[in-house]
Amino acid sequence: MIARGSGSWLASARPCTVVGHSRLAYDDRMRMHRVFALASLMFVAPVAAQEMSPHDRLAREILKQLIEINTTDSVGSTTTAAEAMAARLKAAGYPDADVQVIGPNPRKGNLVARLRGTGRTKPILLLAHLDVVEASKDDWSPGVDPFTFIERDGFFYGRGTTDDKAQAAIWIANLIRYRQEGLVPDRDLIVALTADEEGGSSNGVAWLLANHRDLIDADYCLNEGGGGEIKGGKHIANDVQAAEKVYHTVSLEVRNAGGHSSLPRKDNAIYRLAAALNRLAAFEFPIALNDVTRTYFQQMARLEQGQVAADLKAVGQRPTDPAAARRLADASAAYNAMMRTTCVPTLLEGGHAENALPQLARAVVNCRVLPGEDLADVDRTLARAVADEGVTMKVEWKGVPSPASPLRADVMLAVEQQTTAMWPGVIVLPVMATGATDGLALRNAGIPTYGVDGLFTDVDDVRAHGRDERIGVKEYFEGREFLYRLVKALATGR
Ligand SMILES: [Zn+2]
Repeated sequence: MIARGSGSWLASARPCTVVGHSRLAYDDRMRMHRVFALASLMFVAPVAAQEMSPHDRLAREILKQLIEINTTDSVGSTTTAAEAMAARLKAAGYPDADVQVIGPNPRKGNLVARLRGTGRTKPILLLAHLDVVEASKDDWSPGVDPFTFIERDGFFYGRGTTDDKAQAAIWIANLIRYRQEGLVPDRDLIVALTADEEGGSSNGVAWLLANHRDLIDADYCLNEGGGGEIKGGKHIANDVQAAEKVYHTVSLEVRNAGGHSSLPRKDNAIYRLAAALNRLAAFEFPIALNDVTRTYFQQMARLEQGQVAADLKAVGQRPTDPAAARRLADASAAYNAMMRTTCVPTLLEGGHAENALPQLARAVVNCRVLPGEDLADVDRTLARAVADEGVTMKVEWKGVPSPASPLRADVMLAVEQQTTAMWPGVIVLPVMATGATDGLALRNAGIPTYGVDGLFTDVDDVRAHGRDERIGVKEYFEGREFLYRLVKALATGR
């Protein structure tokens, strides 16, 4: 997940992951915490001892290979990683024509591979990014190295184990397994492993859309951004990210003649900007739920109890209960961000000398706009909230519209069925991320995108982009099996 505009619970997800949808803490949850913490301790030990299936062994090998190829923007190469995966697919029998490593420059290659089906329906695109955010061994704990794959205490450690090389490795392992099984699905399966999702100037998805749309054109795409939630050691929800808020930034600027600070006047650039920011602080965009967030609140109510559960339900219903929405928004920044567009000042500058009246005061305001909202409307609303002609507003980063993906029955049902089969009692939770993934470019290009991976991680221990990044061994293998079954079901209708 990229730095600019990122944020999912994931972290969200996963990514510069910021909490996307944490829940309110109520004391009965504390009790749950303690119970589940105990359970998780008992859980770890047996995993390591179990005999690995050949599918697990292959998935482990591929993850190790990818982790140990440095794909950072500064010194790494996604081409090396893409070629390593291409070699595995060709060794598994994929024809050269269906396996390509292409990109705008030698270090930023993308893998595109295709399992051919009968072509009864349009292909499905299976996406993951190969690049990882920077990491330094010195910052990590002794004995763990970002670019050395280590298994310890039931976890795989390494940069990219959660963001996003686990999903990349799983797509390749499953494509090899489908080939070995002689699977001929109703539709082609396309795997794209891309560059520069996290940053850099060669975003692979954007480059492929612009230069080789035919190679990745699909009915819809499965991508990162979702993920399984473990809370207090218990699997509680399998998230499907079906929408992302739009990252949009403006600046507010006040200019003034200035003068000597010994002769202050009422009209002061800093005061004027401060007054405008205070009006912005008191302003809230209206609540507007979409299909994804409405379903999210309905599903969240099943995980909560008491007043919180009642409020979540009341917000998820039509029409939304404004009082319940008020209570939730006041209690949780994450719930508030799910319900409305938000704009907040993040940077401030003003004045040029200690003994001079300021000639300039400037604030940067970062917005996360609900999908489908008109950015020009957002700017007009912001200007109304600022309510001062003397404050100049300028767009600094124009958001790229990213329509929410419809909660297609075929996709959601398949996710539900495989989730229930593997993790009985775990709910499927549609989520809207507050940050961006490459789903942004695909949605913008008319390819609905679903962040789903069945990789469960502890929501209170998100390590994507951080130090000692890791994924549970058992969780990784279960994610592999979940995606194997899900994609097979979606590609064969069975
Ligand atoms: Zn990512």
